[in-house]
Amino acid sequence: TPIDASVVAFHRDREESLRMRGERVAGDSGRFQVVNPYTGAVVGSAAKASRSQVEQALLYAHAYRSPLSRYDRASILRRAAELLTQRAEEAAQLITAESGLSLQDSRYEIGRVLDVLGFGATEALRDDGQVFACDLTAQGRRRKVISMREPLLGVITAITPFNHPMNQVAHKVVPSIASNNRLVLKPSEKVPLSALWFADLLYEAGLPPAMLQVITGDPAEIAQTLITHPAVELVTFTGGVEIGKRIAQLAGYRRTVLELGGNDPLIVCEDADLTRAAQLAAQGSYRNSGQRCTAVKRILVQRSVADRFTDLLVEATEAWTYGDPFDARHAMGTVIDEAAARLLEERVESALQAGARLRCGHRRDGALLAPTVLDRVRPDMSLVLQESFGPISPVLSFDTIDEAIGLVNASRFGLSSGVCTDRMDWATRFAQELQVGTVNVWEVPGYRTELTPFGGIKDSGLGHKEGVQEAIKGYTQLKTFTLPW
Ligand code: NAD
Repeated sequence: TPIDASVVAFHRDREESLRMRGERVAGDSGRFQVVNPYTGAVVGSAAKASRSQVEQALLYAHAYRSPLSRYDRASILRRAAELLTQRAEEAAQLITAESGLSLQDSRYEIGRVLDVLGFGATEALRDDGQVFACDLTAQGRRRKVISMREPLLGVITAITPFNHPMNQVAHKVVPSIASNNRLVLKPSEKVPLSALWFADLLYEAGLPPAMLQVITGDPAEIAQTLITHPAVELVTFTGGVEIGKRIAQLAGYRRTVLELGGNDPLIVCEDADLTRAAQLAAQGSYRNSGQRCTAVKRILVQRSVADRFTDLLVEATEAWTYGDPFDARHAMGTVIDEAAARLLEERVESALQAGARLRCGHRRDGALLAPTVLDRVRPDMSLVLQESFGPISPVLSFDTIDEAIGLVNASRFGLSSGVCTDRMDWATRFAQELQVGTVNVWEVPGYRTELTPFGGIKDSGLGHKEGVQEAIKGYTQLKTFTLPW
């Protein structure tokens, strides 16, 4: 189906600029193009900032102190949510245009961004200060210690990945606004347009421009300044492990929040309702084209039910519609680009060479990949040893619960997990023994609310959490003062 003409007209030639010092500024280092992964058509272009422009943005932010009250900040976030509700379809189409995600996925993403804004508005109003009495012990005195949160003195640098072009940005920016900070955002160069669109929405809702600037460009030129400039107090990064660890090294004596890759399992035990488990496996593997840090990347099934489960998964997979992302009947669009699709195709091929069995899928057309199921996958195959960021369901078998736990914990990643069992003793063991940030019983690993704590351990992150509430804690200093009362 061809792309709807009005959509093409709307998204053609978006010639974007930087958002800095309250202005739209051309990049001193030129421009780069943004391409729709399905058609290969140019969707627009964005500015390449120079190092000196990054410095200017950071200094401008650093010099600003927000006078906004909690009420002001909550009002801005609520107003932004109203505007986004009115323009939800436009926003979803923009996400689809630059990422190739299906309209179904993009519309869902807008719902999540609305949740982030809503929770941000509520949290902006919440004062979590505590009062401690001091006359509690023999050494005690009649005093009170009072705690309060303050925004950082320095600037926050936020760097986001491509996989949720607007929601990843919302998760960095909204808590910063709620906590009265100043943030400079560098969105993924693969999907900069949704980030700029979202920033404009916030300015329109009343956000002072010094609280959010958006810098696009070539990471090789600007990333170092964004991370190491003396005005930067905190670097918050979501993306792959390799770059995350490089940032950790560069950042030196400043805070970092690193949300990195995942290799999340869905564990299916022999007592499980297999139809329900297969539905979860398909959703977890294929929604957002399998490009979620918490997508199901390995399915561990107890051997006694493995064949029956895999048949049901193949059925669910073959029913998963995919193709032109702008055709709203399709559940799934493309992955981010042809190079990513080719890499995934090669990993599947190499697993098949090494003895895995293809059950369905494994077809590629440009950046479009058929949802794919393989079984007889072994833990040492690169398909499951590394993070495979796409619509692939590799099925592995296990015999005992000990073995399943061992397989999960052998990974260098530790983000999230999903467990399909009704046995409380097994669910309890998984919750206690899996080395991950989250254990979801009867849900996909990606299940969360935008408010609740989220984040991984091991190579998936340093244990600092995101989610609106925890992000605000990470973005603030907890100061105490004491009084002679
Ligand atoms: P990526 O690591 O390639 O890029 C992420 C960001 O880093 C982009 O903005 C990119 O421009 C920037 N970048 C590139 N080189 C840099 C450098 N030298 N210094 C600083 N920044 C640099 O990730 P991606 O391909 O955009 O996203 C996919 C990855 O993100 C996957 O590994 C996925 O698991 C991970 N991810 C993690 C989470 C989480 O919350 N844990 C969520 C979503 C995605």
